[in-house]
Amino acid sequence: MRFSSLHTHSIYCDGTDEIETICRVSFEKGLVSLGFSSHAPLSLCRNTATEIPDTPWHMKAEKLPAYLAEIGEARKRWAGKLDIYSGLEADYIEGFASPAELRRRLPGLDYIIGSVHYIVPSGGAYFAVDGPPEGTERGFREGFGGDGEAFTGKYWDTVEAMIGEGGFDILGHVDILKKNNGEGRFFDPEDARYLRRAGEIAESALKAGIVVEVNTGGINRGRIPETYPSVKILRFFREAGVPALITSDAHRAEDLDGHYYIALQVLREAGYREHVLFQGRRNGKALWKHEALSG
Ligand SMILES: [Zn+2]
Ligand SMILES: [Zn+2]
Repeated sequence: MRFSSLHTHSIYCDGTDEIETICRVSFEKGLVSLGFSSHAPLSLCRNTATEIPDTPWHMKAEKLPAYLAEIGEARKRWAGKLDIYSGLEADYIEGFASPAELRRRLPGLDYIIGSVHYIVPSGGAYFAVDGPPEGTERGFREGFGGDGEAFTGKYWDTVEAMIGEGGFDILGHVDILKKNNGEGRFFDPEDARYLRRAGEIAESALKAGIVVEVNTGGINRGRIPETYPSVKILRFFREAGVPALITSDAHRAEDLDGHYYIALQVLREAGYREHVLFQGRRNGKALWKHEALSG
């Protein structure tokens, strides 16, 4: 089977390795393609007049030209050995930032991963669902009065709104709100309403023509023993007919294909027989090649 790694972080954001190291390790691992997807500068995703404070994990906007230039040079250097693509992981923050805005500003990027890391309680400040657990805990208590259903409902509504606005090609770690949930600290992942909303999201993803990633990043970082999304949620995407992409959300080069064998098991358990490989962008659309899981 052929594999790629399209969800990767480098020294341009919160990853540990340089572009060239990531290329070399991808080649050594036998990957057929590699895409760079640093956390997009928030100022380039911003769709409001309000300033958004910088974070240590997002790329600084002034680094973007060097990032794109370095990827372009690597693409030439590795031509014929490894297909290299330029991407970014863009935040959707309700009322503040969106992948659609980033796409308008950077139409030449090969692909964009759309991710919800933050939710915005009504009348409150946005907070990360996947950051340090204390921050999620505080947002959960202060923003949602400790109501798990309100918390998960807001999360799914946010994912749905992001899909509705569009501008991206890959739906990032779709159930990442479970990252800090432990043994059900905030919500029950088996709850019928929670799962039903996930099913509706899958239908929206199909209509939007995007692919869903099966992301091993939480396992690679030792944060959670399963992929994003879970088998149960991935099954909705399979039933809807949404293509699936295996990714590692690597923040270190050694993790570029980390736990891909688990992603394969999860895909099979969810009923998938194929995964997709990126083939570049044409006429404003991402092209995907479907390949059988067997072999
Ligand atoms: Zn992410
Ligand atoms: Zn990421």
